Amino acid sequence: MLDVRSLGRKPGSMREEHRVVTAPERIGLDMVAIAAGAEVELDLTLQSVSEGVLVTGTLTAPLAGECTRCLESFTDELEVSITELFAYPDSATEQTTTEDEIHRLVDDEIDLEPVIADVVGLELPLQPLCEPDCPGLCSECGVRMAIAGPDHSHEILDPRWAKLAKFAAEAPGDGAPGTGVDDTDESHVDRSLAARNGSASSTTEEK
Ligand SMILES: [Zn+2]
Ligand SMILES: [Zn+2]
Repeated sequence: MLDVRSLGRKPGSMREEHRVVTAPERIGLDMVAIAAGAEVELDLTLQSVSEGVLVTGTLTAPLAGECTRCLESFTDELEVSITELFAYPDSATEQTTTEDEIHRLVDDEIDLEPVIADVVGLELPLQPLCEPDCPGLCSECGVRMAIAGPDHSHEILDPRWAKLAKFAAEAPGDGAPGTGVDDTDESHVDRSLAARNGSASSTTEEK
């Protein structure tokens, strides 16, 4: 709550307000939010205008979230700008708008809590990522690709591929080094095909 009595009702009068408040509860969305108890910093200017008090400035707060691509938790910092009019009782704005559209001054006080919930909710992404280019999880084994590295791939092939791979492996001069090709049936797979298959699937994941 901010008391605005000191502004009077003189259009043009202004006051800087710097506050650090503790989030009384979690503020945000399912996957990313300001945690309850986190410090929310407000750098605001309160300005008396003819219809009410205009609040402008920025809100800064720590964020805690869960990456929707790799499922790791992450922290970040949120900075969001605020521009809200709080209408005077009996002002034209008060009479021509609803409380949902324009906030009200009640007993010369500004209630910032709903404003904070609104601006934070609008600013946060519905599908937060730990990093903008998070590589996500391996579609085969679920390992985090950020840890596994770009060379991570699997040799588990579709049976239809296995037959082709066997054919390719037996063709002269096409055996990649270290493939361990032998004559026991269906156990061997050509690595070049495996790599091709693997890289094809990881390319689609990145997009
Ligand atoms: Zn991630
Ligand atoms: Zn894997």
